[in-house]
Amino acid sequence: MDKREQLYEGKAKKVYATDDPNVVIVSYKDDATAFDGTKKGTIAGKGAINNQMTNFLMGQLEQAGIPTHLIQELSERETAVKKVSIIPLEVIVRNRSAGSFAKRYGVEEGIIFDAPTVEFSYKNDDLHDPLINDYHAVALKLASWEEIELIQRYAFQVNDFLKQTLAECGVTLVDFKLEFGKTADGTIVLADEISPDTCRFWDAKTGEKLDKDRFRRDLGNVEGAYREMSRRLLGK
Ligand code: UDP
Repeated sequence: MDKREQLYEGKAKKVYATDDPNVVIVSYKDDATAFDGTKKGTIAGKGAINNQMTNFLMGQLEQAGIPTHLIQELSERETAVKKVSIIPLEVIVRNRSAGSFAKRYGVEEGIIFDAPTVEFSYKNDDLHDPLINDYHAVALKLASWEEIELIQRYAFQVNDFLKQTLAECGVTLVDFKLEFGKTADGTIVLADEISPDTCRFWDAKTGEKLDKDRFRRDLGNVEGAYREMSRRLLGK
């Protein structure tokens, strides 16, 4: 596959065109940002770990019947994926209280929910990704009702799979963010990434944070946390 011009550079990834109009290459960076891009840094080795972890998990999700954008891992940090138009919704699933949920509702972190929750943010940097409900998403024509229902079903299926897979590695899945895209033929597929950048992972025994919260909150040993997640999930 021929890598062509850069189409886009985001906070954590670059996207390149290829000779196939339906295929793009994503290249994962070591750059890290938080708090709406106001905190910036580098996490050495993050790009390679996030690329490989995302592909490992999406490969298994495909086998479990959830369509994803994954085509083929090309190198440590590069992967060929289906070209999609991203639906501008951050789909957040939570199993325990943490982060913005704990802050918004004035509760401590770590409260175990009886059932997982789902919520949406409108992906819009100028508006700082406001929380929206499903009616608002349809009113804004971000997605149809059928698409929202499908996305929610996929999101909970991803949660069931991830929770189980991580539990087997001694990790509690607290919450995570997904993004979905639409292929040229209108199929909705899971896109973006599944990594310590986009999930909260806590050691099941000690509660130690093994994700980007170490960077956000200056907890130290950020690289070590990413490496530990790679070791537990990918065995390397
Ligand atoms: N998340 C993300 N990108 C965002 C916002 C959140 O990947 O722009 C992830 C975050 O890593 C966490 C989950 O979504 O696993 C829930 O995040 P929350 O809403 O608590 O926001 P935060 O505390 O990260 O601001």
